[in-house]
Amino acid sequence: MKRIAILGSTGSIGVNALNVIREFKDQFSVYALTVNSKIDLLEEQINEFHPKVVVVRDEKKAVELKSRIGNKCEVLSGDKGLIEAASSDDYDILLTALVGFAGLAPTIEGIKKRKRIALANKETLVVAGELIINLCKEYQTELIPVDSEHSAIFQVLVGENQTEINKLILTASGGPFRELSKNELMNVTIEQALKHPNWSMGSKITIDSASMMNKGLEVIEAHWLFNLPKEKIEVIVHPQSIIHSMVEFVDGSIKAQLSLPDMKLPIQYSFTYPQRFKSSYEETNFAKLRNLTFYEPDLDKFECLKLAYDVMESGGTAPCILNAANEIAVESFLNRKIKFTQISDTIKLALDKIENHKAPNMETIFECDRQTREFLYSNI
Ligand code: NAD
Ligand code: MG
Repeated sequence: MKRIAILGSTGSIGVNALNVIREFKDQFSVYALTVNSKIDLLEEQINEFHPKVVVVRDEKKAVELKSRIGNKCEVLSGDKGLIEAASSDDYDILLTALVGFAGLAPTIEGIKKRKRIALANKETLVVAGELIINLCKEYQTELIPVDSEHSAIFQVLVGENQTEINKLILTASGGPFRELSKNELMNVTIEQALKHPNWSMGSKITIDSASMMNKGLEVIEAHWLFNLPKEKIEVIVHPQSIIHSMVEFVDGSIKAQLSLPDMKLPIQYSFTYPQRFKSSYEETNFAKLRNLTFYEPDLDKFECLKLAYDVMESGGTAPCILNAANEIAVESFLNRKIKFTQISDTIKLALDKIENHKAPNMETIFECDRQTREFLYSNI
């Protein structure tokens, strides 16, 4: 029986992970569930999955939950609570399904405890990729990607030799705006941006998909996970989201991983690797699919993707600045403070004004994130 701690259990990945656990009750149990503030859903999850510990980041909500559930399980709160849950000895797999920079600190604890990290929170590798990969090496901790593209590549690479990779080909759906012109992007609404054609996800990643920043973050994530330079990581738009990514090898052979778009599969694989468990998910029917199409992304229209490639070139804390600025910009767009096209402007402003520290340590990363947020809160 593998005991799982889910950071962000009320989100899109968290709920899907609990669907996987429900399907394999005799293989997996829940050790911890953590949420930001949604205690109604958390209470339902507690009654069904009987975790030992829960964390509610919002202190008031934590008190309210405690009064409701009595001593069904331990209730912790705040960022401190997250750290405490992640650094427990009493679980096996840490699924990092919370959103944004907040994922970094508890992931570090999980790595130090040598837990398998099922990594959904791509921001962790974007902001501190080198430090996280080195920490995993130091503690001999497994880092298994949950992001569908990276899970695809990870699956494709089983049994292959890293030195024989020619390039990675990350597929992108292109999001809801792939057919719009650069001018038309100026006036898109929040409601349009939140309508992803293929995936149902949290609001931050859905906006990132619309701006293609999500693919930019994924290029950086792939760079660290698979130890390849940016020149060897290509993005191709594939609107059907059936091929989740591909690897081209030096002999010209290309291997891909395909399935219907459903995050349960990569989540399940991150729990069961190196095994595969028989599931009851919908089968892929090629006769029904008919067409799989591809085209090059437009970096002029989707400037966020270009900015992500640029910060890889700059290195240091530039990816951390990009990430923090993007988080603030997405939040501001969702609060109707800025237009969709101002997301990339906000990131450029931060990259221009905040100093890039080369070879940062973890402290520098936290400071850079804080500084970028502070700067933007008083400048947009
Ligand atoms: P979501 O917004 O649906 O859920 C986020 C979860 O984290 C919620 O349970 C929320 O309570 C919790 N949370 C949010 N902010 C927090 C904070 N500051 N401290 C503690 N908890 C907090 O997000 P999601 O779509 O499930 O995405 C989660 C992560 O997985 C993101 O990093 C995203 O990029 C990545 N990811 C998601 C998908 C997907 O299909 N949704 C696919 C690939 C990768
Ligand atoms: Mg993805």
